[in-house]
Amino acid sequence: MMDVREAFLAFFESKQHERVPSSPLVPDDATLLFTNAGMVPFKSIFTGDIPIPANPRATSAQTCIRAGGKHNDLENVGHTARHHTFFEMLGNFSFGDYFKEEAIAHAWEFVTEVMKLPKEKLWVTVHESDDEAEEIWKKHIAADRIMRLGDKDNFWQMGDTGPCGPCSEIFIDQGAEHFNGPEDYMGGDGDRFLEIWNLVFMQYERNAKGELKPLPKPSIDTGMGLERATAVLEGVTSNYDSTLFMPIIKKVEALIGKPYVYATGASYRVIADHIRTVTFLLAQGTNFSNEGRGYVLRRILRRAVRHGYLLGFTKPFMFEVADTVAELMGKQYPYIVEKLAVLKEQIMLEEERFFKTIASGIELFNEELKNTKGTFSGEVAFKLYDTFGFPLDLTEDMLREKNLSLDVETFETLMSEQRKRAKAAWKGSGDAHVEGDFKTLLETFGVNTFIGYAYTKAPVKIQ
Ligand code: ATP
Ligand code: MG
Ligand code: MG
Ligand code: MG
Repeated sequence: MMDVREAFLAFFESKQHERVPSSPLVPDDATLLFTNAGMVPFKSIFTGDIPIPANPRATSAQTCIRAGGKHNDLENVGHTARHHTFFEMLGNFSFGDYFKEEAIAHAWEFVTEVMKLPKEKLWVTVHESDDEAEEIWKKHIAADRIMRLGDKDNFWQMGDTGPCGPCSEIFIDQGAEHFNGPEDYMGGDGDRFLEIWNLVFMQYERNAKGELKPLPKPSIDTGMGLERATAVLEGVTSNYDSTLFMPIIKKVEALIGKPYVYATGASYRVIADHIRTVTFLLAQGTNFSNEGRGYVLRRILRRAVRHGYLLGFTKPFMFEVADTVAELMGKQYPYIVEKLAVLKEQIMLEEERFFKTIASGIELFNEELKNTKGTFSGEVAFKLYDTFGFPLDLTEDMLREKNLSLDVETFETLMSEQRKRAKAAWKGSGDAHVEGDFKTLLETFGVNTFIGYAYTKAPVKIQ
């Protein structure tokens, strides 16, 4: 089976791109929670804040997390076949060098000649205003395979601010048997048309006021999900059925001693997804905490533990699943293996903490369900949070399974009352002006030190 990551990087090297190692998951960018795309480490080159390197072309396989902020796929995990909280994005970048013509030609060559995907299954989309991209695509693909979509699907932006531009995406038709209705069309959430690659024509920077200003030079940023590309090449329609995930699912299966069945196996898939995120974040130095990034990490672990509990686990198990992540990914990311013993211990302790309260919490939740018609009590959600360590999103996730909503307002009121009490009790804090999550983030993590983009000279520390 083709190693897609290596094939991609080698292909773009053969087109004069510099191979750049993956940057840290916690970016040098206070506007982002995590690196959510391959372009993040290059942001300042796109915006012109950093000079264009000697070689204006780069290629990378970037580890990404989408579990917060503008691109948040946490709620999709367990529900779709193609979203992960942690994934690798394969990308090629042009910093004011080539533009649409070459970006499209390269991508087409890679999918049809290297991946050898059947042309008759491929579709592309362009932004509804982008006649130029459509004309270029017509040189490669039949005109009726090119769809025009609006900003929601074909205008890409990194976050609320930052580089952005119209984009063009490549989809593969996974077959009419996967067609379940309109949600399956391109841009929808179904399984028939799978988005594999996004080519972004970087032309603007959005500022804090929401205005678009042109970038110094039009540039290219592309992203293809390694997990989706691998699944397609392996002939499976769910990423979770690919060789990147099945060994993790098999490990969970072996630990619990119950067979995994796709139709009823969402819990196995959530665990398989979340253990990758937890393993990578811990290996890169983010720790479990009650705020900021560390709280995202804690929430992800607890969501996975709750799914483990549904499968029948009553004591720590995730730490053992981390072994499989290291087996699968340690060659590419040796720091996982180096940190494995320590991070397993961290996971085990965090699991132990939650296993102490999870049964009582779920009992309380189930009791309350009996009294619930439509909207679940905010007071009980707060008690679950405060006494049993159930993050709000975990309770919401449990309610979603029952098609119920939550009285978030009452929950928030109780939360802010608690914060006030905590503040009053904290003598001499003197931080009356602290406001908002962003402030908390900045204070917890500091402004990231800029380490520069001198990738042509110095290797980036974390791969
Ligand atoms: P989708 O519409 O499927 O949510 P997207 O449009 O949000 O994907 P982009 O921001 O365009 O994705 O990212 C570029 C590529 O990265 C996608 O084409 C896909 O291959 C991959 N990708 C994006 N999000 C995820 C994810 N959560 N898990 C795995 N791969 C992803
Ligand atoms: Mg998305
Ligand atoms: Mg999309
Ligand atoms: Mg996209």
